[in-house]
Amino acid sequence: MCGIVGYLGKRAAYPVLVKGLKRLEYRGYDSAGVALLTESGDLKVYKTKGKVADLENYVSDKDVSGCVGIAHTRWATHGEPNSTNAHPHISYSGNLAIIHNGIIENYAVLKKQLQEKGIEFKSNTDTEVIVHLIEYIRTKKNLDLLSSVQLALRTVIGAYAIAILDKNDPDQIIAARKSSPLVVGIGEDEFFLGSDASPIIEYTDKMVYLDDKDIAVIRRNEELEVVDFKNTKIDHDVQKVDLNLAQIEKGGFPHFMLKEIFEQPDCLLDCMRGRINVEGNNITLSAIIDNRKHLINPRRIIIVACGTSWHAGLIGKQLIEDFCQIPVEVEYASEFRYSNPVINNQDVIIAISQSGETADTLAAIELAKKKGAFIYGICNAIGSSIPRATHTGSYIHVGPEIGVASTKAFTGQVTVLTMLALALGKERGTISNDRYTKIISELSLIPEKMKELLKQGEEIKDISRIFTYAHNFLYLGRGYNYPVALEGALKLKEISYIHAEGYPAAEMKHGPIALIDEEMPVVVVATKNVLYEKVISNIQEIKARQARVIAIVSEGDDTVRKLADSVIELPQTEECLEPLLASIPLQMLAYYIAVAKGKDVDQPRNLAKSVTVE
Ligand code: GLU
Repeated sequence: MCGIVGYLGKRAAYPVLVKGLKRLEYRGYDSAGVALLTESGDLKVYKTKGKVADLENYVSDKDVSGCVGIAHTRWATHGEPNSTNAHPHISYSGNLAIIHNGIIENYAVLKKQLQEKGIEFKSNTDTEVIVHLIEYIRTKKNLDLLSSVQLALRTVIGAYAIAILDKNDPDQIIAARKSSPLVVGIGEDEFFLGSDASPIIEYTDKMVYLDDKDIAVIRRNEELEVVDFKNTKIDHDVQKVDLNLAQIEKGGFPHFMLKEIFEQPDCLLDCMRGRINVEGNNITLSAIIDNRKHLINPRRIIIVACGTSWHAGLIGKQLIEDFCQIPVEVEYASEFRYSNPVINNQDVIIAISQSGETADTLAAIELAKKKGAFIYGICNAIGSSIPRATHTGSYIHVGPEIGVASTKAFTGQVTVLTMLALALGKERGTISNDRYTKIISELSLIPEKMKELLKQGEEIKDISRIFTYAHNFLYLGRGYNYPVALEGALKLKEISYIHAEGYPAAEMKHGPIALIDEEMPVVVVATKNVLYEKVISNIQEIKARQARVIAIVSEGDDTVRKLADSVIELPQTEECLEPLLASIPLQMLAYYIAVAKGKDVDQPRNLAKSVTVE
């Protein structure tokens, strides 16, 4: 989860590292630290609990000279977030510094072995074992740093992206990865390291995405070398990364989340560009063209995902079953991977992950691959691990998402799933031409309709002020809007810390209705579709118990307006596309409630953006 940055070159390293940490802070933000090889030849490590800004304050009177360094913003897995457990960690001789993203699963055994040899540990982290182990191997076997890292990593079990500095070799950084992301940026006589491209793009667009078990040897005045644990050279592609700074900055918005909410119309245009041709009445997904034999007639489809992506998957299930008549199951990746699932080579797995690094989803993919399934990835981060692990897939192309609570990635995922379901349904002949044409043309209008909807921001802000008092919220929806209710509740929980539950509206009577009273606001998605009348009855039931109702309704609806306390209108669209619109006011509602409560919207407590731990 954490953010890793490294620099070796001719510039002062510290400003590059701190700026990089700020760009990566969304990945983890409980503590931060930096290690520098200073001009006087010292290895200086500064670390502190809190955010990158706290680190900056802490080092303001310290020596931050030097052109080589590594830095880290942490999301604690082992050991509480304090300055001792913050990274970098130093080896027992004081010569090596390490930063680490991930979890070392066999750290307890290794720690015991090292302690028995008299090595003292300073922190409670799993990370510290790696640096001591490398140092121990290096001294005992009299090896160079690279060979010691290679030997140590053969002993270590778990997930890691690491970077190591050696006090006695200021011209080198060694970095390695397994199951956690790591990118090397290649500039003119300088190198950068990052958990993703965002801390690097300001300086170079040439990047090498390391693969699992790659070790990068970064040396001043030499070409980047990538080797494996046995020191075999690995060919590495230098990619030109198409990312611009504006995409990773707030652009005048107070928070990334609000920027990302408002970007959605443009994001969906990017997502559909080159794929939807309204005049030609056509959807082209290269993944389908290239893999017809796997995708057109599977026995069933299993969607695996976590969190918001899982909610998108629930909508995907309805779309695919509706248009393609293929049975679809939606599984939490974390459950699926341990469930001994019955899968064979007639199954297709759709793996959804914004970051493309979600550890459980990656593990689910590997499991399904072993059992012979064909794997289709739906991701946002270009070049991330899931697109590389899958047989084929579609990027959602919504640009970097930095707010921890996902917004544009969700609508991007739903858009890709809609295009996928339409294209497959067409190929299979399970959707009528009329319906196919109608939905394509309606889908192409969604960005404009979203823009209209976003104009209601001020009204939603006003509504949100009324509800900051609430301790609990219920979100209800039916059919295509049931996952929208789940996602709306998740947004509110994530950033405002108000407890919220999403339910299929009719299920309310089977339990949650017991909670309803005047203290518990209920958000109901009550658009004019086949289930409209039923949802109206649900609203009556809620009102009879004095709860306040915020209703998301279709444009011009008078019936619900008379019943509900607050109403947000959605432009008309096809029922199957309603989630793309209905999710927008729910994102805004969560955002404005959280802001009104003074919460840290972009970096909510305990969360991190890219969940690279299990
Ligand atoms: N497991 C390490 C720790 O708890 C690294 C966590 C991270 O990826 O930030 O310190």
